[in-house]
Amino acid sequence: MKELQPKILSGRPAAQGIGIGKIWILSDENKPVHPEKINKKDVSKHLEKYSNAKVVVTEDYERVKRLPDDFDLSEIIEAQIQTLNDPEVDKQVTKKIKNELNSAEYAIFSTYNEYIQLLEAADAKWANERTIDIVAIRDELIQATKEKKRVFDVRAGEIVFAEDISPTAMVKLSHKNVGGIVMEKGGLTSHAVILSQSLGIPCVINAHWNRYNIASGNSAIIDGSTGQVILRPSRKQIDEYEKRREDEINRYEKDLEWAQKPDVTKCGSEFKLRANVEFLEELPKISTHGASGIGLLSTETILFDADDFDVADQIEFYKKVIESVTEHAITIRLFDAGGDKLIEGSEGEANPFLGWRGVRMLLDKRNLLKRQLEAIYTVAGIYPGRVKILIPMISNVEEIRIVKKYCKEVQKSLEQSGINFDKNIPIGIMVEVPGIALMAAEAAKEADFFSLGTNDLTQYTLAVDRGNERIAHLFDSYHPAVWKLINMTKTAADNAGIPVAVCGEMAAYPEAAACLMGLGIKDLSMNSSSIPRVKAMLCNHELSEMQLLSERVLMAKELIEVHELLENWRTK
Ligand code: PEP
Ligand code: MG
Repeated sequence: MKELQPKILSGRPAAQGIGIGKIWILSDENKPVHPEKINKKDVSKHLEKYSNAKVVVTEDYERVKRLPDDFDLSEIIEAQIQTLNDPEVDKQVTKKIKNELNSAEYAIFSTYNEYIQLLEAADAKWANERTIDIVAIRDELIQATKEKKRVFDVRAGEIVFAEDISPTAMVKLSHKNVGGIVMEKGGLTSHAVILSQSLGIPCVINAHWNRYNIASGNSAIIDGSTGQVILRPSRKQIDEYEKRREDEINRYEKDLEWAQKPDVTKCGSEFKLRANVEFLEELPKISTHGASGIGLLSTETILFDADDFDVADQIEFYKKVIESVTEHAITIRLFDAGGDKLIEGSEGEANPFLGWRGVRMLLDKRNLLKRQLEAIYTVAGIYPGRVKILIPMISNVEEIRIVKKYCKEVQKSLEQSGINFDKNIPIGIMVEVPGIALMAAEAAKEADFFSLGTNDLTQYTLAVDRGNERIAHLFDSYHPAVWKLINMTKTAADNAGIPVAVCGEMAAYPEAAACLMGLGIKDLSMNSSSIPRVKAMLCNHELSEMQLLSERVLMAKELIEVHELLENWRTK
């Protein structure tokens, strides 16, 4: 029989590192459940089956929550437990068993599917990622109604191939020391990806492995930096990637030595590298990676149910974050919902990224804004001088003035209530809309600092939807137009005497970070695992070299020229 040739798949790189090992397929053991009618006399048996399944799955989640870990996963698991015990879902399942005489399995399957369909109809990254969690609960519940339990018999070093991975499955897998993760679906901001980055497990998403004839036990290689997945690799490919993996590990360890060194270039020029944070699970690695505090704390993930989200909860959340960075400061971005991060009321827009997003939503939901400001001012009162506020999606200077007016109102009401607060919190804006970058001189009169959101700045400057896989090749932050807008923003900030930082993905690329330094932007925020390599690059070069690089980049006429300049600089 003819031997099958190696097959190379291209997915999206999600977490750095190379994995070489046997494939372990996280199979979807739960085939569709077909409708099954039951006798009236069996209703109580099926109701009991359902409530027992809930107990089993809840206990399983509680057990996962207690597993020893460096990462505080309790929030993710808690959210799963809450959904599992949601009274609305309960009502539906019970109704389907009791009134419609469906089997427990089918009642669970169809109720959860209705929920999933609602999320899928939302057609947004946030909703899709939540779908993974709901599918997981559905499948775990159905599994629990059966005798047979799902076992994670994956061995250390094996590469997990899955459709999607739920947070709980991810936690279980992380305890098995798996060699890598390949997913058909997944989003760059999904729990599984964030956790694999934090845990150092190479991960590739959107790799369509399901179309190929592979089985558990076949070999594979995955490269989490390029997104390549090689099925049935040849001996030569295995040798080549083993060598690459060794080089990568050596490089990471070498870079890590720089993590605790001072943030200064070879010629003694200072800079600051900070962490972008979204989940509490990311906090433990911040200091080991050498971050000087948090340059971007995204808060929209705590906004699942805006109307019920109370100030005390927010205060707790911000306190946990600030306490994790010892003496450093944190920049809290006000809720940047909308776009691909749906909240109630933002569904159904034709162009969500051009729609009701960030500050636009906040100015319509004033109570929500005021409650967030109240929480931030209160926390800043406990940790004075260590909190900054960042306003997302500013496209008009007037929006800054209005938010500042609310800040004053909140301060006044805190004063009246006798609550201690910090009235000197700097209020900055995200520069991520080209219109505000072009008007940066005016914006600088109202803002205390700028933070360049190069992800959105790229999407809006190039008219490329950042979430659209079809045109993903056109989404490129190295485009000369993006560099020009960055430089204009920096010049305007200098003229006004306000600081400017970068918190978009761009800062995580060492050569781009060097070029930003060359432009004079010395405050860079990124995912914390990229900090060591960026730091190593900046500490090992003179500022004058970086300035020369940035001058050349600003003169480039085409994207390819910028790529050549930056890549040659990195590898020189
Ligand atoms: C950005 O737009 O660059 C940014 C940092 O914000 P987000 O990716 O959360 O929109
Ligand atoms: Mg943005």
